[in-house]
Amino acid sequence: MRKSILTESCVQIAEELRLDKPFQAKIIYHALISGITEFENITSLPKALRERLKAEHGSLLSSKVVRKAEDDSAVKLALLLSDGSIIECVRLSDGKGRYTACLSSQVGCAMGCAFCSTGTMGLIRNLDASEIAEQFLQLTLLGEPITHIVFMGMGEALTNFTALMDAINTLHREDGFNISLRRMTISTCGYVPGIRRLSELGLPVRLAVSLVSADDDTRSRIMRVNRTYPLDQLKDALLSFQHHQDKRITLEYCLLGGINTDRSSAEKLRMFMKGLDAVVNLIPWNPVDGLDFTMPSEREIQGFTGELRRMGINFTIRRSKGQNIAGACGQLATETKREDIFHK
Ligand code: SF4
Repeated sequence: MRKSILTESCVQIAEELRLDKPFQAKIIYHALISGITEFENITSLPKALRERLKAEHGSLLSSKVVRKAEDDSAVKLALLLSDGSIIECVRLSDGKGRYTACLSSQVGCAMGCAFCSTGTMGLIRNLDASEIAEQFLQLTLLGEPITHIVFMGMGEALTNFTALMDAINTLHREDGFNISLRRMTISTCGYVPGIRRLSELGLPVRLAVSLVSADDDTRSRIMRVNRTYPLDQLKDALLSFQHHQDKRITLEYCLLGGINTDRSSAEKLRMFMKGLDAVVNLIPWNPVDGLDFTMPSEREIQGFTGELRRMGINFTIRRSKGQNIAGACGQLATETKREDIFHK
């Protein structure tokens, strides 16, 4: 099967699979949602039909797991898509039974943030909605119920807006995965037109912004998006989001050794946050081969968190889950290349 049926209506499924009886489309859709990925295992369908569907379409999945890596808090899958592209997605566990899917929205990314491994790939292509939604299905096949979703994998989700919204609708669909919109978080590097579009829609999804620095010069050096959409424009867009959605925003602050951990950086962050209902999520940078940054020292981390505490800034610190398997923020990238798979 070249394209997943996940994003399709039952009418479309019936048409595409040439089903005589429309209710069979519903059976197939529900089988897939419940984790049955092979036509031959949908035993409520006649045998002859199962055989025809298998012969014509192969599997119900359009992607294939080509690599799996895990540590005690995360499982990362590399998925081979029908055009030979490879993307990665991660299932994160909080250790208390809550599972979160981290999904990619693009193959590569055009934004080129200097601290991010995916940014080194450039944009290869956008994913379509079914490719985004199928990552969730692949992660549920690992066996645990997943209740939360973050669009924080490869790519800048808000530059692939229509596919992202279609995927969100699919994942939210009541007769499907039925994930609450409130349990979905869209992550952006600060792509202002996308934030504004999202505000206008008024969806009750959450927003996380990779801020990294509240100083324009520093941010422009590290994040190209800031050269087009500097901090004042970003802040305006966030205020507007909050005006429409009334939701607390997460500011992801990747701590880069010697760059954004001093007192003046904390003070600028405080100024940026004035008027925003936001929580800061500190993420000490994880080393990535070929990227010229250093991990913050424990002393820098303690110093910065001490400043934030003194200023009364709400923050959490995330020792990135999935660090050991390169599934942490900004680390989903080229580790699995097509050649690795076909030349082994
Ligand atoms: S941090 Fe996000 S937006 Fe920036 S290059 Fe990486 S994937 Fe793209």
